[in-house]
Amino acid sequence: MQRLEDRILKDGVVKGGNILKVDSFLNHQIDVSLYDEIGEEFHRLFKDEPVTKVLTVESSGIGLAVATARAFGVPALFAKKNRTRNIDGEVYSAAVESFTSGITYTIIVSKRFLTTSDHVLIIDDFLAKGQALLGLLGIVNQSGASVAGCGIAIEKGFQEGGKLIRDKGIRVESLAIIDSMEDGIIKFRR
Ligand code: 5GP
Repeated sequence: MQRLEDRILKDGVVKGGNILKVDSFLNHQIDVSLYDEIGEEFHRLFKDEPVTKVLTVESSGIGLAVATARAFGVPALFAKKNRTRNIDGEVYSAAVESFTSGITYTIIVSKRFLTTSDHVLIIDDFLAKGQALLGLLGIVNQSGASVAGCGIAIEKGFQEGGKLIRDKGIRVESLAIIDSMEDGIIKFRR
């Protein structure tokens, strides 16, 4: 998506540890009109799927999931991060190691909000090692719902997550795929 790539080049900051900072427009301060366009783009890509729910993980996926859910006219649902292992039977859960902090969270979704009749589009801001998507896919799997695919704003194509998820036969659509960001220079996949 040209507008997203342009914005990454303009305002993205490459940090150590393979981290791209995009907090001026994507995951701290939010460019709402860019979010709306991202939601429309995911709708264009997945419109042939009978999506009933858009799922993400808190917190940075929520705004993108809302924009996408609005375009589909379905609810947005976010997995909550729970630091305790004290989980009752009313939730689906999965362990996820955070790429940015290294902390392992248990993510949970209430069983009330995902059922076998759901067809779920999973959305996130970044795809790095694929751990967040694996956790969300695990939750969908536990619920018996089906997966339409995964929509990612920024995939770091030089990390293993994209291959890991696609090799499972899951459709992954990323709006910007970064092939390298060595010496602070961002190069997109063409
Ligand atoms: P994964 O689970 O694929 O390893 O990492 C995805 C999650 O880690 C995303 O939900 C995102 O919040 C965070 N993340 C991964 N890479 C980056 C990055 O380069 N920059 C930022 N800001 N977040 C990232």
